[in-house]
Amino acid sequence: MGEHAKLSASASHRWMECTPCVELEASFPEANSVYADEGSAAHALSEYKLKRLLKIKSGKKPVSQYDSQELEDYTDQYVTFACECIAEARARTKDAVILIEQRVDFSRFVPEGFGTADLVIVADGIMDICDLKYGRGVPVSAEHNPQMQLYALGAYGLFEEIYEIERVRMTIFQPRLDNVSTYEMTVDELMSWAENELKPKAEMASRGEGEFKPGEHCRFCRAKAVCRARAKANLELAKYDFADPELLSDEEMGEILAKAEQLQAWVSDLWEYAQAEAIAGRKKWPGFKVVAGRSNRRYSDEEKAAEVLLVNGYTEKQIFNKKLLGIGDMEKLTGKKRFEELLKDYIEKPAGKPALVSETDKRQEWNRAAADFD
Ligand code: SF4
Repeated sequence: MGEHAKLSASASHRWMECTPCVELEASFPEANSVYADEGSAAHALSEYKLKRLLKIKSGKKPVSQYDSQELEDYTDQYVTFACECIAEARARTKDAVILIEQRVDFSRFVPEGFGTADLVIVADGIMDICDLKYGRGVPVSAEHNPQMQLYALGAYGLFEEIYEIERVRMTIFQPRLDNVSTYEMTVDELMSWAENELKPKAEMASRGEGEFKPGEHCRFCRAKAVCRARAKANLELAKYDFADPELLSDEEMGEILAKAEQLQAWVSDLWEYAQAEAIAGRKKWPGFKVVAGRSNRRYSDEEKAAEVLLVNGYTEKQIFNKKLLGIGDMEKLTGKKRFEELLKDYIEKPAGKPALVSETDKRQEWNRAAADFD
């Protein structure tokens, strides 16, 4: 496990919104996440591949439990993208400076703040910061992204005395969601943000000061299940001033549905936490108990069961049910490119079941007429 900054870049969006959260989170253990481990494996492999291509000492190829054709393909995509950025910088100036997995220090603005930038390129007045994100949850935007801006600040600190840098270009490359997001700002804008917004908030966050401010950023907060401010805000949300008529108006329904999404997320965090604590025996919640869940029957010895059936007149055809691997597993086995080559004619994507989502969702609105016609 790598060294971890108290005010980390990856959590900066949260501690800038809700400055006392870092102090509150400190009493909750950091949960090991498969996604984080998988991300680390993707970073290690990308670093190795990129360094090899650039003929920089890269050591041995990293090995992890996540090794698969899929991981190879996605890291290849990132490396291709990184090479394009490097080539473009070298076309501007052949002395472009390239740093891979560079530790950057932004403690001038954030107490004890440091992080690792995946790729930093400095060429001809422009500094590029590229960040590989291996998640497939939600597309992450580079626009006004404090994590990227922190990396940019740290990287700028390395070069400000040596090079004349005017602009910073920050790019998030998220291959599993086909998401490439770039945002550019001047160094003056970056510095003004750092002095006027970042620094005061980071100082408050490091002292545990400020107001708790619940919002979308609570999603990855370690205190999210038991945070009083979040509970209060959600319970407040649940209150509704009903107008007189017996039936809810369409407008009221819309407002309630918008609140329901947020409430649902909070309730499921609360439930997940309460259940885990009770099962672990750390808590006994008044009015609740732990019971054995429902389970399905299964063979205790598949070989023996098959033997008995065959001896008793059942045929192999009857008792075995061979199935092709599922699409996801097959794609993992073959890799995305080979999967496309071999199977594109044999894959179909039926229309998904219509579902109600918030207006802000990026998907196109469902076309009822077309669906009826089909
Ligand atoms: S749950 Fe939300 S409001 Fe509560 S501490 Fe965490 S970020 Fe702040």
